[in-house]
Amino acid sequence: MDSGFKDSLIATLREELEAAKTTDKEKVAAEVRTIGFSCLMCGRCCRREQGDNSVIVSPAEIQRICRYTGLEHGSVTKPPQSESDIPDLLAEKGNTDLIDPQGNIHTFGWELSRRENGDCVFMQEKREGNRCAIYDARPMLCSTYPFYMEDGELKVSECEGLGGETGFEESLVMAGKVIERYVEEIKETILLYENYGGFRKGPENINKAIANIREGIINYIVHDSTGSHRTTLRIVSDHNIKD
Ligand code: SF4
Repeated sequence: MDSGFKDSLIATLREELEAAKTTDKEKVAAEVRTIGFSCLMCGRCCRREQGDNSVIVSPAEIQRICRYTGLEHGSVTKPPQSESDIPDLLAEKGNTDLIDPQGNIHTFGWELSRRENGDCVFMQEKREGNRCAIYDARPMLCSTYPFYMEDGELKVSECEGLGGETGFEESLVMAGKVIERYVEEIKETILLYENYGGFRKGPENINKAIANIREGIINYIVHDSTGSHRTTLRIVSDHNIKD
């Protein structure tokens, strides 16, 4: 990434951060009440069958979940583009934007691990409803769902619980969490850009990535707010990648 472009992105994000810190909590709470939300415990936001259920997690959130569960980093989270996405990623063979000369696939940030069927690894189905096994340590994306902030505006994701009754105190709590998430996400992005050193792209790089996959591994370099991290995924299929 060109350093001038990177500096200007960071400067824009710093302005956004200052604006985000002054977000009017009461105003956001009033919007939350107008929209209305009551969780139905349906667990749809945690399941793949209902659409995109990826949960982006920050390094601090990963640490918190690891401490809470006693699990290792690799069980809790994975790079956003993992084995199931690789055929799409490499299908065109012209897609070299994310691959370096060693065949490492570069990704940005982490997401919570999912089961084979795509459901969140922490979702528990119980007779009395769906439960989150890490409820007290769940990521901010989950505790604020279906609300989020973008460009200073409150937004909502698809959810069956929208339109439900929301009390005054409840709306204030939700507004506080949504704003906190908004501020933290901007901070994370600034740090990510500050730490990001880039890598050399080139049409030949994809061949090395394909060779790695045929040997049963996908090497990732994950860039996050704390730096760049190498992680390897072992796979069983070569995804029928053609010569
Ligand atoms: S962490 Fe919990 S709330 Fe978030 S998607 Fe997974 S099961 Fe659902």
